[in-house]
Amino acid sequence: MLKNDQLDQWDRDNFFHPSTHLGQFARGEAPNRVITGGQGCHITDREGTRLLDAFAGLYCVNVGYGRTEIADAIAEQAHELAYYHAYVGHGTEASITLAKMILDRAPDNMSKVYFGLGGSDANETNVKLIWYYNNILGRPEKKKIISRWRGYHGSGLVTGSLTGLELFHKKFDLPLAQVVHTDAPYYFRRDDLDQTEEQFVAQCVASLEELIEREGADTIAAFIGEPVLGTGGIVPPPAGYWEAIQQVLDRHDILLIADEVVTGFGRLGSMFGSDHYGMRPDIITIAKGLTSAYAPLSGSIVSDKVWQVLEQGTDENGPIGHGWTYSAHPIGAAAGVANLKLLDDLNLITNNHEVGGYLNKAMADALGDHANVGDIRGEGMLCAVEFVKQRDGRQFFDASDKVGPQIAAALLEQGVIARAMPQGDILGFAPPFCLTREEADEVVGKTAKAVQAVLG
Ligand code: PLP
Repeated sequence: MLKNDQLDQWDRDNFFHPSTHLGQFARGEAPNRVITGGQGCHITDREGTRLLDAFAGLYCVNVGYGRTEIADAIAEQAHELAYYHAYVGHGTEASITLAKMILDRAPDNMSKVYFGLGGSDANETNVKLIWYYNNILGRPEKKKIISRWRGYHGSGLVTGSLTGLELFHKKFDLPLAQVVHTDAPYYFRRDDLDQTEEQFVAQCVASLEELIEREGADTIAAFIGEPVLGTGGIVPPPAGYWEAIQQVLDRHDILLIADEVVTGFGRLGSMFGSDHYGMRPDIITIAKGLTSAYAPLSGSIVSDKVWQVLEQGTDENGPIGHGWTYSAHPIGAAAGVANLKLLDDLNLITNNHEVGGYLNKAMADALGDHANVGDIRGEGMLCAVEFVKQRDGRQFFDASDKVGPQIAAALLEQGVIARAMPQGDILGFAPPFCLTREEADEVVGKTAKAVQAVLG
C-alpha cells in the first residue's frame, strides 16, 4: 500500500478534483482526505479518523454505507454480465425490473423511464426531450426553460444554465440564452420583512406571470424546480407555493420538470416530493437516491402526455436520436433494484420521517434562541441552519467572513460532516435515512458547540 505522503503528492500532482480551489489544492494549501471505508452513517479515512456523515456524501448515500445487499447485487451482475447497451430494444433483467419498480412508486400519470448516469445528464435529456416534444407538436418557438434563482440542476451546459447560482455561471459564459430565471421561493430572504408567507407566494406568482408575459408564453416550453431547494440553501417552499405555480403553468401550457434528484425515493419522508407537495410534473428527474450512490445511475421519468408525443415523433421521424453508451448500465440497474428493495425491507422511509422530524426539532430547540441564528428549517431528513449577523432587521454576514464554512470546519473537528452551502452562511444536514436518535443528538450537540466556538 502506498504511504500517505506519496499518495498525497500523487493527489496534488495528478487529480483534478471537482468543486475545489484548484490552485490552493495543487500547492498543498488546502487539505485532502482519502476515504477508505464506511458503515451506516459513518465514514473512515486513511488516518483512521471516523466521521459521522450528516450529509450522506452529497445527499445521496440514503440507505447508509456498507450495505452488503447492494454490494452483492453489483458483484453478481458484474460476474453475470457487466455490460450490454440498451439501444434498439436491448435490456437486462435488472434494467427492465428497475424501470417497473420506479413506475410502481412514481405518481400515477408517469409512463416510462429513460436511464442516464447522473443528475446533470438526466436534466440535459429532459430539456432535449421537451424541445423535441414541441417540434413534433409544430411549436418550434416554444423552447425556453424557466428555472429559479438558487435552483440546482447540474453543471453541464444547459443544466449549469438552469442552476441559479452565480458560481456556476461566472467565467463559464452561462447561462445560455434558452434559459430564464425567476424568483426563489425563499421566504426567509424576502425583500419586504413585513410580508406574510401568503403575500410572498403571491409575489412569486406575480413575478413568474410577468416573466411569462415579457418573454411570451409561446416561447416558453417548461419550468424546472426542485420540490425543496437543495444546494441553493435547503429551503422548503412556503405553504401553497407549488399549487399556485402549477396553476400558472397549466394556464400557459408550460410543462413542469420536477427535479427530484435529492428528494426522490424518500428524502422528504414520502416517496416523491411531487406527491409531498401536490405537484403534477410532466417529467421527473431522479438520480442520487435511486441507487443510494452505490453505482452511478439517473433517470428521466416521462409522463404519459409527453410519451404520446415522443412516440408520434419516432413514427414520423424514425428512432429517437438520443442515447448514452452507459444508459441503463446493468451494474447501476442491479444496484438500483437492490437499493429500492432495501428501502422497503428496512422501512427506511418511515425511519427517515420519524428521525428527520426529531433532528429538525432538536436543532430548533438547541439553536433557536441563538443571537446569530436567523432561521432553522427542514423537511424529512433535510435540515438547514442559517446564520445572521443580527436577527433584528435580518442583517447578513459579509460573504468574506466565511461564517458558514468556519462553522462547518469547527463541526468537522468534532467528527461530524455537515455542508456549508455555497451561497450564504447556511449549514446543511442531509444524513442517511438510517440515522438513529442518538446520532441525531450527537449531530445537534456538536453543531451547538461548533456555533459556540465560532460565534460565541
Ligand atoms: N439536480 C439536483 C436537484 C441536484 O441536487 C444535483 C446534484 O446535486 C443535480 C441535479 C446534478 O446531479 P449530478 O451531480 O449527479 O450531475
